[in-house]
Order: sequence, then structure tokens, then C-alpha cells
Amino acid sequence: MERFYLTVARVAKQALHHMVEHRIPMLPDIYSRHFYNFLAACDQDSQHLIAEQLESDSKESDNQQQQSLSIMLELTEMINKLDQITGNHCENLDNHLLKLKETEEIDDLNKLKNEITNELGQVIISNNEIHKNILDAKTTVERLHTKMEEVADMATIDDLTGLYNRRALFSRLTEEFSRARRYEQSFSILLIDIDDFKKINDEHGHLVGDGILRGLGAFLRQNLRDSDFPARYGGEEFICLLPSADLTQASLAGEKIREHLATSKLRSKKMGVSLQITVSIGVATLSEDEDENIDSLIKRADKALYQAKRNGKNQLVNESEIETAT
Ligand code: GH3
Ligand code: MG
Ligand code: MG
Repeated sequence: MERFYLTVARVAKQALHHMVEHRIPMLPDIYSRHFYNFLAACDQDSQHLIAEQLESDSKESDNQQQQSLSIMLELTEMINKLDQITGNHCENLDNHLLKLKETEEIDDLNKLKNEITNELGQVIISNNEIHKNILDAKTTVERLHTKMEEVADMATIDDLTGLYNRRALFSRLTEEFSRARRYEQSFSILLIDIDDFKKINDEHGHLVGDGILRGLGAFLRQNLRDSDFPARYGGEEFICLLPSADLTQASLAGEKIREHLATSKLRSKKMGVSLQITVSIGVATLSEDEDENIDSLIKRADKALYQAKRNGKNQLVNESEIETAT
């Protein structure tokens, strides 16, 4: 645990230092983004340590969802109970009506009239109560529903780009990996890294940099199929998972994105700046190799990306084109 605190403190210090140095406003969401960016640049051990903690946080969010669900069940029970009360009134009134048909004596009729009037009075009171309770229950259910959606989103969406976050990405990669193995299928990933992003931050400021990341998020969503899964892998790196695409198909999809981006301008809406950026892309496809796993797949995409950078950036390299150093 001690090591966890020390690691967090180290990453926090780096993030704070960077924010002070670049005069970035010290706001909670901006700070947290920086924290995760610096974490993404850390060694594997530190990342692992903090990932474990995040996992237990995710259990906490599952727990929250569980609680919301049980409140909803309570509400359903309450509504059922109310329904029962109205049922009882109906039954009592039915009995009175039956008696009414059989009664002829004026005294008995008067007595019955009083009983029915009483019962109807109760029905009106109950009805008002029921109406109020149902409205309350409806509001509570709506509030809970929104809360559950927020909790689910928080756990899967990157707040800057609106794309899936790292956690959602790994969960989907794990799912696709099992599916691919079960049905002897494959899938591909595009590892996308913005070229010279540091320069954009240095020349235009971090907030414009943030706006560009947001713009690229929207661009990726627009330029991929609905069935594809674009996620923010870390800092200014993105992974798009293309289910059932082979290396050629994924390379074509990636090349289309690269080319389209290189001939468009991304707009940082908040800062009112339009900039032209380029990306380098590494592509890899899940292999049938027994030793293959998600890490080895990403590693090959990373190697291909590195090659694209070395070849001069603004290009796509797929894993079959990786040149092994001699
Ligand atoms: P290369 O072409 O080799 O990829 O060059 P680069 O400048 O993009 O290099 P590098 O990957 O080392 O730099 C990434 C920079 O992205 C460093 C970091 O400050 C910045 N960055 C990471 N996350 C964020 C973010 O959330 N917002 C902003 N504005 N900048 C970020
Ligand atoms: Mg990078
Ligand atoms: Mg970069």
C-alpha cells in the first residue's frame, strides 16, 4: 500500500508541476486528465499498481449500481402495495353493492348508505395518497435511472474526447479476444498517435491541445463504422478496434482516416482555433499463434506505429511491414 501512495504522489507531483509550468487552471477534471496522462507515460509496474486500485473503484461503482437497483425494487414493491389497497376498497364496495341489491328495509338501507359513503370517503383519501405516492415514486425512479446511466458512463467514457476510455477498451478487447478464439475469427486494431502533439501544446497552449483531442475524438467517431470501437488509449494515443476486419481491411480503414485527417482541419471550438494535424498509425491483427494475447497484439501495433514515426510520420504501417533491425 505504501508503494501505491508513493507512486500516486510521484505522478500527482509531475501532473501538478506540468500544470503550474504551463499555467493550466487547477480544476479537478483538468487535473485528473493530467494525472492519467502522466500515469500513461509511467513504467508498467506503476501503471499496474494504480490499475488494481481502479479495479477496486470499479467494484465500488458496481456496488453503487446494485444499491440503485435495490431501491428501484423497493419502489416497485411500494407500488404493488398501493395497488393492493385500491383492490381492498374495490372488494368492500362490491360487498356493499351486493347487500344493497338484497336490502329492502329503509333502516338497513340508511345504514348501508352510511357505510358506502364512509367507504367512498376512504377511497377518495386513499386515492389522493396513492396519486401522490406514485408521482413521488416516478420522480425517484427517473432520478435513479439518470444516476445509473451516469455511473455506467463514468466507468466507460473518457471525459475529454467522449470516446471509450482505457478500461472500456480492455474490457472490449478481452471480449473480442474470447469471441475470436471461440469462433476461430480475428479482429484488428489501429493504434493512432498524433504527430508532434507536443508542438501544438507548446505553440498554442494546452487548452487548444485539449480542444484538438476533443476534435479528433469526434472525427474518429464520424469516420468509423458504428460497429467499430474507438477508444482513448492514453494521452494523445487512440486505439480503434475493428471487429472482424483483417489486416488489409483494417489498413484500408486506417489509411482513409489518416488521409482524410491530413486534408481537413480540426477545430478547437472553445478556443476558436482551427488546426491541421496529422497522425501516424500502426495496424495489427490478432494472430492464431498460441502465445498471442492482447498485450502482444498491442505490442505489434506499437512497433508498426514506431516504424511509421521513423519513416517520417503522417503514415500508416501494418505489422507485415515492420522492418526488423539487423
Ligand atoms: P510524435 O510525433 O513522436 O508522437 O511527437 P509528440 O510530440 O506527439 O510526442 P509525445 O507522444 O512524446 O508527446 C505527447 C504529448 O501529448 C505530451 C503531452 O504533454 C501531451 N498530452 C498528453 N495528454 C494530453 C492532454 O490530455 N491534453 C493535452 N493538451 N496534451 C496532452
Ligand atoms: Mg504519444
Ligand atoms: Mg505523438
